[in-house]
Amino acid sequence: MATLLSTPVLAPDPELRIGAIEHLSAVSLGTDYLPIFDAPSADLQGQIVFAGYGIVDPAQGIDDYAGVDVNNRIVLFLRGKPDHLKHPISHADKVRFARERGALAYLTATGPILHPYEARRGVTGSPSAFYGQLPLDHAIPGAWISTTLAEQILADSNNAASDRLRTLQEQLNRNPSSRSIVTNHYASLRWNTTIQDGLLTNVLGVLPGRGPDWIIIGAHRDHFGKPAGLLFPGADDNASGTAVILEVARVLIKAGFHPRHSILFVSFSGEERDLLGSRLYISRPLVPLTATKTMINIDHAGIGNGRLTVGVTGLDKRVALDAGTAAGLQDRLDLFGFFPGGDHVPFKEAGVPTVTVVSGGVHPHFHRPTDTADTLDPDILRNVARYVLALAWRLADGP
Ligand SMILES: [Zn+2]
Repeated sequence: MATLLSTPVLAPDPELRIGAIEHLSAVSLGTDYLPIFDAPSADLQGQIVFAGYGIVDPAQGIDDYAGVDVNNRIVLFLRGKPDHLKHPISHADKVRFARERGALAYLTATGPILHPYEARRGVTGSPSAFYGQLPLDHAIPGAWISTTLAEQILADSNNAASDRLRTLQEQLNRNPSSRSIVTNHYASLRWNTTIQDGLLTNVLGVLPGRGPDWIIIGAHRDHFGKPAGLLFPGADDNASGTAVILEVARVLIKAGFHPRHSILFVSFSGEERDLLGSRLYISRPLVPLTATKTMINIDHAGIGNGRLTVGVTGLDKRVALDAGTAAGLQDRLDLFGFFPGGDHVPFKEAGVPTVTVVSGGVHPHFHRPTDTADTLDPDILRNVARYVLALAWRLADGP
């Protein structure tokens, strides 16, 4: 199953320089910054203006651009949103606000104050691989910079207070007043983006059953590739899940399993580009979605604290618990409802029950060039495979 796709690709050796106007110096790709991977080409320089979280929402009394002129300048905004803003805000919205006000480009960074949820997930101040999800002609060049670099940009030349960004974030979190500041730092951004044609391919395999219904076991195979010349190996995300479905398929076939419901194994592509592969499947399902009893999705399943995080939608959680008992892993399961993000989402939206399996705890290399095979834990992979095997067995022979 495949479809043609044109995507922006960043050429190797991008450059970001930051400093006082006469003293710009290059910062390092991967640790200090990552260009937004679908950003347009850049060849520009400008003064950096801090614009809080970069949010404009008159109904909530928020205008992070109040009191500053960002025309022909470079905006620096924090990722995420303050708690007092109740509805979600997307990165694409923030880029639109900056562009509408004449900004040449933007820098974005995780603020020094983390949400408890982010801290639990192991979010750090390092830049991550990221797509802005805006068409090229609606985007401006942008980069995700490290929290440390953002702190340096904000540090006042008079008092060199490195905690100034933290103070600003505290104020932004407390009330909606604008904290925008024209900094004494400048940035220059230089890189080339080209449009490349490619083929998005989902690979499918079938283990036939006795009846008309189906179980799907999926894992995405794609990752970020080598944008800007930097390799993202994607061992945990998601060679680990790919290895699990291959192993589960091997064991089920070797065992001569001839279940009630057929099993469809799907290796998705395009997950990192807004779930393109699973959306493609839903638009052209191999078997009717109404005959698809459950979709099991395995993603980043090779590192962490040894526990399994299992998200269940549309079916009784007891099935997921019983599979844990059958696999001897009942003490290691953490069961939840909907798990946000991943290839199960289009299935859930189409009304198919889903089970998502992720290894529990912190994934420190998530969307970073350091997600290499040597960081994976074979025991965790084995437990995930054992669990998915038990779950698939039950669901495929179930009602
Ligand atoms: Zn993933």
